Amino acid sequence: MPRENDGIIRVGIGYDSHRFARGRALILGGVTIPSEMGLEGHSDADAIAHAVTDSILGAAGLGDIGELFPDTDPANKGRDSIEMLEAAVARVAGAGYAVSQIDVCVIAEVPRLTAHREKIRFSLGRALGIDSTSVSVKGKSNEGMGWIGRKEGLACIAVATLKKNS
Ligand SMILES: [Zn+2]
Repeated sequence: MPRENDGIIRVGIGYDSHRFARGRALILGGVTIPSEMGLEGHSDADAIAHAVTDSILGAAGLGDIGELFPDTDPANKGRDSIEMLEAAVARVAGAGYAVSQIDVCVIAEVPRLTAHREKIRFSLGRALGIDSTSVSVKGKSNEGMGWIGRKEGLACIAVATLKKNS
């Protein structure tokens, strides 16, 4: 007789945005991307890592990145977001789930991500404990519209699929 949650698939969504700032590194998915502008934030402002973290926490019903790593905690200032993602993966595993696949969409006018996509997939795959072929990263412009179009910042959406460990 199978238990209630055997073989269950869960899906979660994560969203993040950060403002561009001069004098900051641009780090996306744990990869430093050469750019005139970086992203402003309490941590290293890695919008991909933050959205992916929220997507896996959401899928497992474990709250969000702000609860796990409050920005009022000085320990989180300038913190490596890949390290936070790894901590979230451990939480998810503790709740009995394994990450099976991630799909990421970055909405930005600049920079173009194509040249960095494989590196980002590999970096995220390593943090998530899955093969990079199970990590998808797509870049989209906002067709010049709104705050993204004015290059004030970028946004990222991530969808995660988790599988219940048997
Ligand atoms: Zn963020």
